[in-house]
Order: sequence, then C-alpha cells, then structure tokens
Amino acid sequence: MPRIGIPRARRTALVASALLAGTLLGVPGRPTEAGGGLPGTATGRGGAVATVDATASGTAIEVLRQGGNAVDAAVAAAATLGVTEPYVAALGGGGFFLYYDPRTRDVHTVDGRESAPAAMRADSFTDPSTGRPIPLEEAITSGLSVGVPGTLRQWDLLLRRHGTRPLGDLLRPAIKVAERGFPVDQEFHDQTARNAARFADFVPTRKLFLPGGAPPAVGTTFRNPDLAATYRGIAEKGIGWFYEGGLAREIVRTVRRPPLVEGAARKVRPGLLTASDLASYRAVSRDPVRTRYRGLDVYGMAPPSSGGSTVGEALNILDRLPRPASDPVQTLHSYLEASKLAYADRERYVGDVPGVPLKELLSEDYGRERACLVSPTSALKPPVAAGSPDGQYETCASASGTGGPLAYEGPQTTNLVVSDRWGGVAVYTLTIEQWGGSGITVPGRGFLLNNELTDFSLAPRPGDPNAAAPGKRPRSSIAPTVVLRDGLPFLALGSPGGSTIITTVLQILVHRLDLGMDLPGSVAAPRATQRNTPTTLAERAFLDAYGPALTTRGQILEPYPGPPPEIGAATALEFLGDGLVQAVAEPVRRHGGSARTVRPD
Ligand code: GLU
Repeated sequence: MPRIGIPRARRTALVASALLAGTLLGVPGRPTEAGGGLPGTATGRGGAVATVDATASGTAIEVLRQGGNAVDAAVAAAATLGVTEPYVAALGGGGFFLYYDPRTRDVHTVDGRESAPAAMRADSFTDPSTGRPIPLEEAITSGLSVGVPGTLRQWDLLLRRHGTRPLGDLLRPAIKVAERGFPVDQEFHDQTARNAARFADFVPTRKLFLPGGAPPAVGTTFRNPDLAATYRGIAEKGIGWFYEGGLAREIVRTVRRPPLVEGAARKVRPGLLTASDLASYRAVSRDPVRTRYRGLDVYGMAPPSSGGSTVGEALNILDRLPRPASDPVQTLHSYLEASKLAYADRERYVGDVPGVPLKELLSEDYGRERACLVSPTSALKPPVAAGSPDGQYETCASASGTGGPLAYEGPQTTNLVVSDRWGGVAVYTLTIEQWGGSGITVPGRGFLLNNELTDFSLAPRPGDPNAAAPGKRPRSSIAPTVVLRDGLPFLALGSPGGSTIITTVLQILVHRLDLGMDLPGSVAAPRATQRNTPTTLAERAFLDAYGPALTTRGQILEPYPGPPPEIGAATALEFLGDGLVQAVAEPVRRHGGSARTVRPD
C-alpha cells in the first residue's frame, strides 16, 4: 500500500495550513489558496484518478494510458485495492458505482450491494434464548452477517454495459501486485493490528494476515499469492466459477462453517448462505436520484443506498437556509440542521423496500417544509421526528414526536474517482463493511468475506424499512456523487465512513459550493457529522475552529471518537474546463491518498 512520497510530518504541516485557510475562508466566490500546494492533489489532462492508494491510482493511470475508459480504469483500480486494501475492498464484498457517460450525457448507477440469503428473516439477528438482538460484536464477526458478495457481478455488468476491456485484462495489474507484494505501510499495519484478536481466531485469516502470529511490520513486503491465483482463476474460468462453480461451493462452506482455530473461545454464529443464493445474485442497473442545487444537477445513488436521497434532501433543505460565504459558522449551522432533518427521514423511509417516497423526499416543496423548522440562531434538539413527505406542503409543518436512534453502520470502506479523455467519469465506493469484514477469509483464496448484513436494523421497529428479509439488500449510506453544470461534469466525489459518508459528501459540497473554497481545501477541511444523534461528532480541528461559536447556537459538539479520530477519507475530481481536471485525495486522513492525471499540467 505505498502512498504518495511526502513525509507524514510535512503532509501534516501542509494540511494544517489548509485547515487554517478553511477557518479564514469566507469571501464569496474566492477560493482559498489551499489547493495549490496540498499533497494528494494533481491537475492535468487525458484522464485523472484519486484513490486512497498510490498502487491503485497507478493501475488506473496505466489503463487510461492504454486507451481504457473510466469504467475500465475504475474496475482495474478496485481489483488492485483488493490486494493493497484487503480490509475494505475484496471480492467478498459489494458496492455502488456511478458513471457519467460522455456519449449520451447520461448518469448511470450500478448496484452491487450484497444481499441477504433466502433463509434470512427480520429476527435472524435475535437470540432465541433471550428474545433480544445478539450482541453487536457477535454479529460483526460471524457467518450470519455475510451477504451474497456483489462485486464480481457488478464489475461484469459494468464492463458489458459501459466498459471496453475484458475483466481478465483488467485483473492483470492486480495479479502482479498480489504476486510481487507491496511494502506494508503504517495504515496497513494499524488496520491489521486493530483486527488482530479476531483475525487470530480464524485459521486462514491468521495464516494470511498475521504471518508469524503478528501484524506484518511496516516496511516489510506483503504478498498474497492465493488472491493472485483467485484472480487468475476468474480471468480463465469467468465469474461463473465464483457464483456457481467450485469457488461458490468453497464460499458457502466457509460461511456455514467458519474455519475457527481449535480451542478459540469466540462464539461464531454460522451463516445462512446457500449455493442458490450465490447463483441467483444479480447486480442491478438503477436510475440515479437527482437534485438541483445552486443551478447545478447533483446526481447520486438510489435505494438500497440512502446516500443519494439523503444528500439530495439535505441540499434541498439547505437551499432554503442562510449560507453566507462570509459567515462559515452560520453556514455550518445550516448544514448541521439540514443533515439532522434529512437523517430523520432516512431512518423512517429509506431502505430496500418498495414505495420509498423518493420523489417527495427530493421535492423542493418538501425541502421548504422541512427547512421552515430551522432557526438560524438555535439548534433543533435531536433526535428530531421524521416529516411527512405526502405531497401537501402548503404550511410549515411542525415536527411532533421524536426520531429513532441511529442504526449501527461500520465506518470503513473506500472510494475512488476516475475520469477519462472522452469526458467519462466513474465514482465507485466499494466495501466489505467493517475493516476486515466478518474476519473470515475463504481458505486458500486470499480474500475476506463481508459482514454487510450488520447494516440491517438488528432490532427493527415496526414498519422499519431496513429490517432484514430474504434476498433483501441492507440499507447503505454510500454516496457516489456527480455534479453537472449545464449537463457536463463539474464535480465528482465520494467517501467511506458508514453513515458519515453522507455528511462528508454534503460537507464537501457545502465548502466548495457555498463557502467558496477550492476542492482540495474542501476535502481537507475539518469535518463534523450530525446524523440526528444527540450530539454532533467532530474532528478536533473542527471543534477548535467552530466549536464555541456553534455552541452558542445550541449545537452540542463532541470529539469524533475513532479510532482513528477522523471522519471519512474522500476522493474527488473537479473539471476545470478545456479538458483540465483536478484530482483530489485526502492529504492526511488515513495517512493520505493518491491523486494522478495522465498528462500532468
Ligand atoms: N456499510 C457501509 C454502508 O454501506 C459502508 C461501509 C463503510 O463505509 O465503512 O453504508
């Protein structure tokens, strides 16, 4: 997982100045200077990429150089992340992909979300002996939480519809990296160390990720020949091997009888996955959701992700609230309040169910009705109640009752953005849910299985749109987003972070579009997340810059606990005109990402 070659101390110093710029920003339309010198930023032509990892970004650039398009490059980069970021990106997971097609000027999305086995029920996470939900820790490390992996069918559908290269060719760079290995960096080491106790309990996971019984040391080379062989098998035999062939049988066996080490004290619940669940899995092409904001079109992901609708609803609310570029505190207060209200509706209405009132949630009139609850000088006390997106919006509806608690969602995954020389744009968030997913590696195959089904409401309330059900996909917060100006790409972005994904995407848009920061500054700026929870969780730099002023408006802020104490690790692109593109990765969070262009400017 080699990263950009700037020493950590220097990166921190550079970002400190970006963050300071963030606190001083405020002149309408005047971008900060932060972007120019920030690490993780590249400007150029002919194609651009930003990921969390230099090897993956390098793969994308190679594919683009050889004439591949944004979809080809995104798939190849994702396969490489499966090697270098195996705890977030694996064949054993899923994700959501957004593609702007320059030929038709349409936005497409492809849902590769994991689905529940046919045997899953709303009470599958209830302990029959107590009648209560099983402890979260038990759900996280279990076969029970493993959903049908969607990644390969998603790649297959994407490449057939929008790509130009066969999957086998796009797996080649990843195979090379898996065979030759990559230098272990601090981030890889830390993620392994955080998972070491549970990894040690599974025979194949211990063997692969704890060589010699401990996390690999920083600077050593990590190889994954099993994964290289798996990728090669897929290239040769096709994805049918994974979904219906020998590999499918191995996956089912692993999920139903997790390979625990002898004598492990851990109680690991077996999974419900069957061969027919794998064989019947389909990736789904879905219409994107769209919102108008400041004369721009903001496109995002529809259910089963709540990403697009929640970002869109919050933007509609924000559009009716004060957001002076000269007063970041006022604007951030509006951001926190809009997010609070949109999250109440997300919990109540959005999931993988028929009849999600998307049109109403995203209507400008509903945004006005929700916005009228917000005071510019005092904060609504969370949790606020969901609204009534019922088409009747003449009056300012009062919010009666209270909202429910926020469901658990692990905060770890990865996002990448790619553009190509033809103007195509891909935004792809892929995940196995938790860092390390279920902790269960398929023996001899080099990849971890997801624990995405923990994204269902483990203790569903009556009418909960996110209760588990046979074949259903757990609600996600993943929010790949593209912003068009006059029908052409202007911004593209996405982030990891479980349910903080939505607030990270939203906050970057607020910084860029309302506060007039440039894109690198908007990505680097300190973050806060308000998800209709009793307190707003914020990074230390945010608390330092805005805490006291927001507190006087009634916002209750607390440090984001982590680990690590950072919100999101976003990647983004800005299209500057005349084919010039600025690619932006995080300068510091998760030890920094990697942005490249085919022809640096
Ligand atoms: N499971 C999360 C979701 O779908 C993504 C995982 C993460 O961001 O860590 O929203």
